[in-house]
Amino acid sequence: MVLEMLLVFTLGASVGSFLNVCIYRIPAGQSVVSPPSHCFACGEKLGLVDLVPILSYFYLRAKCRRCGEPFSGQYPLVEFITGVLFALVLLRFGVAWETLAGWVFVSVLVAVTVIDIHHRIIPDKIVIVGVVLGLPLVALQSWPTLWSGLAGFVAAGLFLLVIAVVSRGGMGGGDIKLAALMGLYLGLQNVAVALFLAFLVGGVFGIFLLVTGLKGRKDAVPFGPYLALGGIAALLWGSQLVKWYLSFWQ
Ligand SMILES: [Zn+2]
Repeated sequence: MVLEMLLVFTLGASVGSFLNVCIYRIPAGQSVVSPPSHCFACGEKLGLVDLVPILSYFYLRAKCRRCGEPFSGQYPLVEFITGVLFALVLLRFGVAWETLAGWVFVSVLVAVTVIDIHHRIIPDKIVIVGVVLGLPLVALQSWPTLWSGLAGFVAAGLFLLVIAVVSRGGMGGGDIKLAALMGLYLGLQNVAVALFLAFLVGGVFGIFLLVTGLKGRKDAVPFGPYLALGGIAALLWGSQLVKWYLSFWQ
């Protein structure tokens, strides 16, 4: 089991390495396949050894070996988090289509979170890829899962659309599309858990930022990261959270 977890962590960290490429290039409108990874400052191409997730960052001592340009600590962080999430998804679902779907889902959420924090946008491209991959992966699980996913897609999308209209722009188009995608992967019940958690954590943190004066009333705060957080929690522990919540009412 330890060996399997280590392998899956490595797989996740490697996917995280690709997500780093997406995170930098997609908002800039660049291709994610070419040119190969290189130093932004001097253009030095990164060799195979330099691309080993997490370890290469420390091996290169966080800088380009040719020009000394520092590399962001965000690279190993994204790789590490993606690796941990891949292992958690396998622990939760075992060898099943759910795991494959879960890996795609968490990858989308990691990329979207970092991009939304930096640019305040959720690129359509990522959401579309997520939906296109999600449909067959959800359908392969079972018919009820597919129906629940489609219902979740519509319901979560509509719910955020209504909030966007009522709050007059407090919620962006990207948030609406991301919520719909989450509905597809999570199904109706778990996407409700995800949205509840997103608004709860987002609301509490928003009040904290206002009270401490770190943000003003007019400052836009990206909501994508909260959606992603709720989505990951609901994927891994959704049914337990529902049971736990219901136990209060019995
Ligand atoms: Zn360089």
